[in-house]
Amino acid sequence: MRVHYMLLIVASVALGLSAHWSALKPYPARTSNGEECSKSCTAWGFFAHRRINRLAVLTLPPEMMVFFKRHIDWLGDHATDADMRRYAVLAEGPRHYIDLDEYGKPPFADLPRTFTEALLRYAEIFGVTKEGDTLLLYSQKRDTAAAFASIWRLYFAQHVTAAFSDPEHRLDADTLKQFLDAHQWAAPVLREAFFVETLSAHGILPWHLQKVQRDLTMAFRRRDAKRILRLCADLGHYIGDAHVPLHTTSNYNGQKTGQVGIHAFWESRLPELFADEQYDYFVGKPQYIGNATQYYWNIVLESHNLVDSVLAVELRLRQSYPADQQKCPETRGRTIVLVACPDYAAAYQQALGGMVERRMRAAIQAVASAWYSAWIDAGQPDLARMSEPVFTEEDQREQAHLQQQYQTGRILGRPEEQ
Ligand SMILES: [Zn+2]
Ligand SMILES: [Zn+2]
Repeated sequence: MRVHYMLLIVASVALGLSAHWSALKPYPARTSNGEECSKSCTAWGFFAHRRINRLAVLTLPPEMMVFFKRHIDWLGDHATDADMRRYAVLAEGPRHYIDLDEYGKPPFADLPRTFTEALLRYAEIFGVTKEGDTLLLYSQKRDTAAAFASIWRLYFAQHVTAAFSDPEHRLDADTLKQFLDAHQWAAPVLREAFFVETLSAHGILPWHLQKVQRDLTMAFRRRDAKRILRLCADLGHYIGDAHVPLHTTSNYNGQKTGQVGIHAFWESRLPELFADEQYDYFVGKPQYIGNATQYYWNIVLESHNLVDSVLAVELRLRQSYPADQQKCPETRGRTIVLVACPDYAAAYQQALGGMVERRMRAAIQAVASAWYSAWIDAGQPDLARMSEPVFTEEDQREQAHLQQQYQTGRILGRPEEQ
């Protein structure tokens, strides 16, 4: 603990910052309302995510620090809201990962880098007539719609992306009919319209990152302090996830290679045991991100390149290490669970050659760079003169609901750690 604290001070001196160090205590394994964890509180979710958001604040330039330092606790506490939303909102789950192996082999040159292009490829639009017949109106797979993609592009950018988080993917039938008429595609009057897509099934992380980056830039432009904080917390979360190799593969928990449990082992157990004492969090100043699309894709592609090592190193170790010294019982709240023994975890950490620490450090710098770039792109608004965020009773009710769903509910979508 002491080593970690000193490292922070070293970082602050090197960066010429005068942050309130007394406020920088590592978090215990508790939820943001102080209750003991009943679930995967120690996931990259509840340990590294908070750490990443807090440390990202400390690297910001003074013009941003003036606002962010005041809210460092908030940004740490809410770094995990996005994970909690998976228990309340169906559309949330796929935002945290992408199964790149479902799309062939690296560098996945064919996979569209922007969401509109991806939807043009992987979504089909249907309309329902007054008589109740369902018509296929757009599909790149089944007909010559590819030739019309340039015409459909604007419709997708405006309407399909906007309807993506609606669980039924409903489209406005009148707007669609107008669009079809405008292009002289004779279509009957439509009672309803919708689209189906195959992207959600494999995750949308790199596309969602681009959206949150745009939303954050807009929030800075509007000087909307509450929205800035919320989007910064979320963006920090998704960037953290993007740095975890197992968030980029369909074998996300080693279930295809007989390594179930490796997800939490890599992203939870290793940071939980070693992040305080052994990791060096020194990162440089934030960098301006000129091309967010490329930047976020590079992060997930880098993560994906590490998947083979994450799995192979553990498999080798598992086969050579005494079997009865790999799992140890540990008390979590009121239950006892089996987790990787500290010595076994240390051996994995060693064999990985500092990978977890490097990914965490890269995440901190990427989070700071993302916030910084949104602020620059918004024209560097004067954050010192922005009004303070006001969290209403309604906001607090929503937060309490989220917390309750998380504590008592189930993930709507695929769980990571079963
Ligand atoms: Zn994870
Ligand atoms: Zn997540």
